[in-house]
Amino acid sequence: MVKIKERLCRTILSPSKLPGCDYVINPYVGCQHACCWCYAKFIRGYTGHDNEEWGFFVDAKINAPEVLIKDIRRLKDKPTIFLSSVCDPYQPIEAKYKLTRRCLEILSQFAFPVGILTQSKLVTRDIDLFKQFKDIEVGMSFITMDEKATQIFQPGAALPKEKVVALKKLHQAGIKTYIHLGPILPNFTNFDEVFRATHKYIDAAMGETLNTRGENWTNLIKVISKHYPEFLPQLKKEKFKNLDYLGQVGVDFEKVAKKYKIPVSGVYHHQ
Ligand code: SF4
Repeated sequence: MVKIKERLCRTILSPSKLPGCDYVINPYVGCQHACCWCYAKFIRGYTGHDNEEWGFFVDAKINAPEVLIKDIRRLKDKPTIFLSSVCDPYQPIEAKYKLTRRCLEILSQFAFPVGILTQSKLVTRDIDLFKQFKDIEVGMSFITMDEKATQIFQPGAALPKEKVVALKKLHQAGIKTYIHLGPILPNFTNFDEVFRATHKYIDAAMGETLNTRGENWTNLIKVISKHYPEFLPQLKKEKFKNLDYLGQVGVDFEKVAKKYKIPVSGVYHHQ
């Protein structure tokens, strides 16, 4: 059972160090997708959720749209804005609160380049709105095409086939789309399978290797130990910082993307 709370925020445009992005908007605290490797769990310590299980609480920032108008007035330039960095903007609660949609309605009145990344089929609800943007890119994140593994690793996210259908709908509506493959997990992420399923509906692709910091790693190892103990001996934390491994992942990713004629915007590593 997910515990939902409403809260007020003082600001909603947060400066970002993500590549190619000046500001992020996170309309929610927490994420119902509950991915076991989620890097965003650290925010529990800053938001009064220290001892709560990730995936089982969400705070809706109910004044986010009004605050966004104020934040935009303070901007001096034309920034690139991304949704979202520490939550999924289309997690299930968005169907009720529509905070992502209402923020996008405001952004559509400006000429800011906007990027979206999600794991949810709910994103297709806003196709009408995406069409009003001059510069918008909508991405779907995958780790695998394996349904069982997806349900184990990220129980609240859409299934891979649902993500493909969502990409198809977005593409057919003329929206620029991309796939994000991440975290790239040995034994689970098969580049060819994901590109084969999605290449007809995407304009670009990016990859991201595993971030092994803190709880990301310990939670992943817990899940692998329980469900896939046969893969445990091959999973060594050092591997994900090894330059030969990281270089090879980049080469393999580019090779498969080239086979499907999809431009690669980057393969990112965590050091
Ligand atoms: S969808 Fe993103 S923010 Fe949500 S749990 Fe998964 S990794 Fe974390």
